[in-house]
Amino acid sequence: MKIVEVRTSAHRLPPSVPWEDATNKVQGLEFVVVELVTDTGLVGTGFSYTVDIGGTSIAALVEDYLAALVIGMDPLDYERIWLKLQRQSRRLGVGVNSMAIAAIDVGVWDLVGKFLGQPLYRLFGGTREAIPAYISEINLAADDTVEDLLARVDDYMARGYRTVKIKIGRPDIEDDVERIVRVRERLGRGGGLLVDLNQKWSAREALVKAGRIDGLGLGWIEEPLLFDDIPAHVALKRAIRTPIALGESLHSRAQFLDYLRADAIDFVQADVAFVGGLTEWLKIAHLAQIFGRPVAPHYMMELSLHMLCGVSNGFMLENVIGGSFTELGLLEEPIVVEGAMGHPPLRPGHGIVFDRAALDRVRLDPQTLKRAFAGGSK
Ligand SMILES: [Mg+2]
Repeated sequence: MKIVEVRTSAHRLPPSVPWEDATNKVQGLEFVVVELVTDTGLVGTGFSYTVDIGGTSIAALVEDYLAALVIGMDPLDYERIWLKLQRQSRRLGVGVNSMAIAAIDVGVWDLVGKFLGQPLYRLFGGTREAIPAYISEINLAADDTVEDLLARVDDYMARGYRTVKIKIGRPDIEDDVERIVRVRERLGRGGGLLVDLNQKWSAREALVKAGRIDGLGLGWIEEPLLFDDIPAHVALKRAIRTPIALGESLHSRAQFLDYLRADAIDFVQADVAFVGGLTEWLKIAHLAQIFGRPVAPHYMMELSLHMLCGVSNGFMLENVIGGSFTELGLLEEPIVVEGAMGHPPLRPGHGIVFDRAALDRVRLDPQTLKRAFAGGSK
């Protein structure tokens, strides 16, 4: 099997509900979709994404440079392909190029699965057939009240969810405490509450504020601090008993290894699109396993189903409200989480089939962004 053609497209659309956290108000999700056509007739679909910024750069990196490197290569040599792309682009650092490599790598794995006639989760280890899911909301707008939040929690529970992730990081920690206490109460025994700061706190602030919410029965505190301040995470982890989760802002196994070696992380949240695709994500998951840490991949619900059901240390599936391909209306066949349990599609490959007409309707047109881009960073 040889790759004979690479087609790239970029898309931009808002989440299907407004997203606002402590440090960002999301304007647009940007997806880069790559189709790898082979001489067998099999076509692999890869994809990557970014939030608000950079979609045109990722698409250009794939289209103008990386696509040519994979023409003629056999997708079964996924490691060889990944190394070639990584070595060629390493001068760009890790970030945009990891997202570009991911778009190709996911397509390569889709072809491996299709060629072997197997759904990807089985090729990743086939540890389980289904994975429990938590619902993840991004609702920290200034006018969002505790009553609004509790009404949403009632809805999540009616849909079968017992574990919920909410955003915190209000200026007054007592507002965060109130949200946590009231939601914990509403979820009741057996319920799980996770909170996400999106890197809001300074190192000193974290020691004080995390101390205030430590002991409230949280399942984890996510991204409390700047993503690259490992010593501050070490200090915080020693000061509290609540586990620390992070990883959506890291881009390589080396960065995760630094956190694991420093004992600065409890839950490993590598994002498949941000670390360079499935080839690198699997290495990070195995690395976490060696350190005895569960993996809880960030976002990318439909693809994470395969990753979590493949590896043995999968924790829970993140189902971000308003952000799955399914909710965005981009799939031919929806992939839904029912009763808070996620099942990977059983079709060969990843089984994620885009509705091309839907993708075409949200084509990323750089002209509409130029001089009009405002971003949402606070
Ligand atoms: Mg997060």
